[in-house]
Amino acid sequence: MYDLGEKVSYLRGLIEGMGYKEDSNEGRIYLGIVDILQEMADAIAELETSQSELNEYVESLDEDLADVEDEVFGTGDDDDYNEEGDYRYIEVECPHCHDTIYFDEEIFDEDDDIVCPTCNKVIYSSEADEEDESEEDES
Ligand SMILES: [Zn+2]
Repeated sequence: MYDLGEKVSYLRGLIEGMGYKEDSNEGRIYLGIVDILQEMADAIAELETSQSELNEYVESLDEDLADVEDEVFGTGDDDDYNEEGDYRYIEVECPHCHDTIYFDEEIFDEDDDIVCPTCNKVIYSSEADEEDESEEDES
């Protein structure tokens, strides 16, 4: 992007270099025109600055709005799939009430028991192996 202010400064130097005095008729006209050009160049530079600030603001608003849309409409595809691209939710039928439940696969990485939200019975116990061992001891 060329600098408008630099071109105006160059023109001013050119006029002054040609020997036009500020108190001569020609000097008054030429330098008056250059003054107006300088003011216009400053005004345009100011507009460009505020325009690019406004652009940045609108872009950040647009990004925020996209986040809100993902949250509200559930269009955030990234959230439903893991790193391997597999669907992250695991479908499980509760052995107690036979309700179909969807679990986030991350829940299996945790040590807590997985409880059916419908009947509140344990579907998957993280201590299943230990229970088997204790049963053997009892018998
Ligand atoms: Zn159940």
